[in-house]
Amino acid sequence: MTTVRTRLAPSPTGMMHIGTLRTALFDYFLAKQNGGKFIIRIEDTDRERLVPGAVENLLEMFEAVNITHDEGPFLCDDGTIEERGDFGPYVQSDRLDLYKKYADELVEKGFAYPCFCSSERLDEMRKAQIAIKHTTKYDRKCLSLTAEESEQKIQECEANGDTYVIRMKVPEGSTTFDDAIRGTITFDHQEVDDCILLKSDGYPTYFLAVVVDDHLMNITHVLRGEEWVSSTPKSIILFNMFGWGVPIFAHLPLILSPDKKKLSKRTGDTAVEIYFKHGYLAEALVNFIGTLGFNPSGDREIFTIDELVESFDLSKVNSGGAVLNMEKLDWMNKQYLMALSMEDVTLRATPFVAAEITDVVKRALFIERSRVSQLTEFDEALKPYLSLQAYEPSILVWKKADVADAVTQLERMVTFMETLDDTAFSAVDLLESAIKEYITHEGLQNGNVLWPLRVALSGQEKSATPFETLWVLGKETSLDRLQSAIAALKK
Ligand code: GLU
Repeated sequence: MTTVRTRLAPSPTGMMHIGTLRTALFDYFLAKQNGGKFIIRIEDTDRERLVPGAVENLLEMFEAVNITHDEGPFLCDDGTIEERGDFGPYVQSDRLDLYKKYADELVEKGFAYPCFCSSERLDEMRKAQIAIKHTTKYDRKCLSLTAEESEQKIQECEANGDTYVIRMKVPEGSTTFDDAIRGTITFDHQEVDDCILLKSDGYPTYFLAVVVDDHLMNITHVLRGEEWVSSTPKSIILFNMFGWGVPIFAHLPLILSPDKKKLSKRTGDTAVEIYFKHGYLAEALVNFIGTLGFNPSGDREIFTIDELVESFDLSKVNSGGAVLNMEKLDWMNKQYLMALSMEDVTLRATPFVAAEITDVVKRALFIERSRVSQLTEFDEALKPYLSLQAYEPSILVWKKADVADAVTQLERMVTFMETLDDTAFSAVDLLESAIKEYITHEGLQNGNVLWPLRVALSGQEKSATPFETLWVLGKETSLDRLQSAIAALKK
């Protein structure tokens, strides 16, 4: 049985896009599910669109989401990039000789031809085609040159320092393929351009490089965005020209912005890094992006990466656009935050927190983790614990009680709390049972006691429970806050 080999083939043209992360995750799920390999290949042949740092950003994001590829470029601790794997180089600009060799082979076999047309001529040709509403494609002027004429022109070019390109000679007929997501797709070759395979600067175009590399790297499944569907017939024609096996193609649905428009920087956040900056956890992001357009089962939403690996199924991926539902992402993030230990939440929150990480802050983070949706909300959530904000004393009074009762309850609570030892303050549960026992024993109503207690501790009408706040603040600070509340009510 052939080993499943999937690849992510990003062009380093900017910060890693969430669409690229989705493709990477699906590649990863498929490869891991089948005991296969997941490869990263950098497609940097369009030299004008290169953005410095893009490869580093991609590899950093891979690390941040905790998915590891098996082959390709890897980021080292010192910031340099190192390649690992038996099918390298994994960066196309390091493979130029190979593409030249294969382009020459196609020319020799009569499947490709040199083209000497100037860009001015091509522009005019295009304009004329548009004017008569024809699809723009090369008019094959140079295909009519004889082998001798072509050879002579090549020599002239070399002598004069002029350039030429190699174009693919698209045969007559049509190409049909079974897309693993979209089903059978047919393209009439009338619609397929004699595209450039080798550019005048010696670099291959995407069309040639992708086929050569997918073949040489033994890629079995090509997963990529829907925008590449129309280039697939060119790939298949080339695979056939070389006599190579054709991989399985799966074109993933577009990702749409929350308002169902094409996702762009204007309609939503496109860069993976921005999601981290907003304070989403890697697990939540993997769960959210890894189920965009794919849901393993019914109503369930929360899946670990291993569960996604296990249940991934290309045939279950929807072909329609996948809308980014930010409320769902917030909800998912909250589910993952709620499951974090105190140590973990401290670790994740530290980069987002301005305050010094003290024991009080750690406890507050642990409590507040189930009340925020994003790590960026922690700074605000910590405020009431770090210092008591000024508040209107009337909010201390429970709706079914009065000022005098609030004062009585708070004073009695001070007396009671002074009897509690460090053990009682060591856990929320212990504080809760001690206080609840006291309420029952004294024959009091929860509201009369707990409302003023909670507001006195937090200074807020809405906050964590009084037991949680007591635990976070500790005995001394808690008593101080109760005394201030009593003083404010007595004024
Ligand atoms: N280099 C292409 C891109 O940036 C890859 C397309 C493919 O996966 O074949 O998106």
